Formats: sequence, C-alpha cells, structure tokens
Amino acid sequence: MPELPEVETIARQLKDLVVGRRVARFESLWHRVTEPLPATHFAARLAGREITGVSRRGKFVVLELDGDEALIVSLRMTGKLLFREDGSPDDAFTRAVIRFADGTVLRFADTRKFGRMAIVDRADLLENGDGPRGPGQPLHRTLGIEPLSKRFTTRWLGDFLQLRSRSAIKPLLLDQRGIAGIGNIYAIEALWCARIHPLRSAGSMRPDEVARLREAIRFVLRKGIRFGGASRRDYVDARGAEGRMQQEFKVYDRAGQPCPRCGRAIVRTVVGGRGTFHCPRCQRAPRS
Ligand SMILES: [Zn+2]
Repeated sequence: MPELPEVETIARQLKDLVVGRRVARFESLWHRVTEPLPATHFAARLAGREITGVSRRGKFVVLELDGDEALIVSLRMTGKLLFREDGSPDDAFTRAVIRFADGTVLRFADTRKFGRMAIVDRADLLENGDGPRGPGQPLHRTLGIEPLSKRFTTRWLGDFLQLRSRSAIKPLLLDQRGIAGIGNIYAIEALWCARIHPLRSAGSMRPDEVARLREAIRFVLRKGIRFGGASRRDYVDARGAEGRMQQEFKVYDRAGQPCPRCGRAIVRTVVGGRGTFHCPRCQRAPRS
C-alpha cells in the first residue's frame, strides 16, 4: 500500500509530466471511483481545466487545478497513476482516464478498486492543524501534520504523544489525523530505527526517545523517497517503474532473519490488527 514516499515519488514525477496540460475529457470505467459524485458531473467539472501544479498531502496525490480547486487521488491498496503517450497500449485494470488536450493520458489503474478520486477546495488541504475534526468529515479535511515539514519538531511530537499518552505508539503513528502519510511499513521501520517497541504507550516515551523517534521517522521517509518508494506487490511509479526501497528494509517482512543491528531474530506480531515486525533485543517490550 503506497505511503508517503511512494506518493511523493509519483507526485514529483507527475509534476514534470502533467503541469500545464489541459484536461480534454474524463472517462470513468468504474462508477465508484468518483463517488459520491456521478462520473458525468465529475467529468463536467474537470473538462477544460488546466493542471497548474502537482503535490502531495498525506497519502493523497494532489493535482492542482486552475481556480483554487484540486483533483485528489487516494491510491489506497493497489491504485496506480500512469502517464502515457498518445496511442500507448492499454493498462490492465484501468478504472478512470484523464485525456489531455495534447493527446497524452493519465490512467488510474486499480486491481482491488479501493482507490478514489475527488475534486476538492485546495484550502481544505492546508496544514493548519485546526481544521474540521468532527465525525463524518472526509479524510482529506482531517489530515494531521506533515512529518517532513518544519513544523514537525521534537517539541511538537512530545506534546502530541502526551495528548495521546494512553495509545500504543505504533497505531498512533498510523492515525492520519495526527501525523499524515505514515503507513504500516514506514512505522515499523521507524520504530526499529528508534529502538522503540511497537506496544510502548505514547506517554511512556522519555525525551531522548521522542527525539530519536522524530529523527527515525524523517530518516526512513526520506530514504524511501530517495529509493523511489517500495514495491512489494503492486506499487509502481507514474512511469510504471518499481521502487527500490524494499531492498532496504531492516525489519519489515524479515521475521526469523537476524536484526541488522544486534543479530537477534526478528519477530512478527500483530498490533492493532496489522502485521508488525520488531527486534526483541533492540526494542524492549514494555512491562505488563
Ligand atoms: Zn536488534
């Protein structure tokens, strides 16, 4: 499932590929891709619009449109955004197509059909920290802090962990309303890097551990971007190429193999319903 580094990789590529292009037509091949909006309304709102920029917010690809709106794409499990030249062969499992006026296309392919597209106000994507939080808000309006931003300081993280002191650290890192963009893989790698057990409570973290965790989060995310994201099953970038970060995992999917730091066998557990990997020596379990 694409996380911050994979989505950032796609957004950076699309910036070079689609900025300045004008949408000629939007075609839906799976009615739920644009829900709750019917595909015909969606197509009418996109037709003639220019892509003025491409960015990322949390795990959303953000295609900025003229007129203060944005087309946001949630790739979820298996979504891919593929930029193709005029007349290139079809991509399997294409669910939607954006045709540009110059003949190029952006295809949204998605085997498992969980991915979605929406047209939103760009202001709703701002990282202001006090946006609407009530139940029923769409996810893009409730996203938390960007972990690679300047605002994500050790002090910010320390305060956040105190506010949520009873939560186990790993599920807390996955909550997009707190910190946006971290998913299962990078949470696991960051906790190993910081030598923090996934079940430690957020409130039990010493100041040096908070500082290590912040550093570790930024380190693994930046490394993921540098290696073009991680491809395990489905992820490919906007040109259809795989990333290389999966070769760099220290603990993720390495149960039974030696910890690269101490040699102890990596253990797989389940935390908050998600498969989790840690080193039982480097990441000491909390008492009881
Ligand atoms: Zn170890």
